[in-house]
Amino acid sequence: MMGKLHVYTGDGKGKTTAAMGLALRSLGHGRRVLIAQFLKDGRSGELAALRTFERATVYPAKPISGFVFAMTAAQKEEAAKQQNAQAADIQSEAERLCPALTVLDELNVALACGMVTRENAERLIDAALAFGDVVSTGRNAPEWLREKGDYVSEIVARKHPFQTEKLAAREGIEY
Ligand code: ATP
Ligand code: MG
Repeated sequence: MMGKLHVYTGDGKGKTTAAMGLALRSLGHGRRVLIAQFLKDGRSGELAALRTFERATVYPAKPISGFVFAMTAAQKEEAAKQQNAQAADIQSEAERLCPALTVLDELNVALACGMVTRENAERLIDAALAFGDVVSTGRNAPEWLREKGDYVSEIVARKHPFQTEKLAAREGIEY
């Protein structure tokens, strides 16, 4: 193993932004980074910014449509098939790019809701660890991933404006 595994989990704000901050830190030293996002649509502001770096590869997102809990069994199966295929494809990208850092944003959530299998996730993580550090973010990281992690950080939400003042997600802050 060349790198260390970081697991950023918990219900507080700051998991994805911490991972993207690490990507920026690595890029600042001229290193190559691969950033991939599970479940989401890839429209968050930091991805547009990171795409401007020559040494950054932002894997094109393949979002799932709608919430997993609202899906029928067939829709869930289809979404899982597609997210597992994405995991395999990201692995190929890592093997091609040999990145010093691989960010797997929201992989924890994809695992927790059965969209990516443990087997596929471990294969991807281990492949990327051969080249550098790997970050897996998202709530509800499974126990095996917390055990596998070298850096395991749990962010606890003590207050969030969504709860305290019903504030909607803000551009440039939440996405
Ligand atoms: P960030 O991307 O800001 O670092 P995160 O990755 O830790 O946050 P996620 O769980 O991925 O958090 O949630 C994405 C966005 O949803 C966050 O920007 C956050 O502010 C918002 N959010 C987090 N917790 C809550 C909550 N309890 N209710 C509503 N929105 C929330
Ligand atoms: Mg996040």
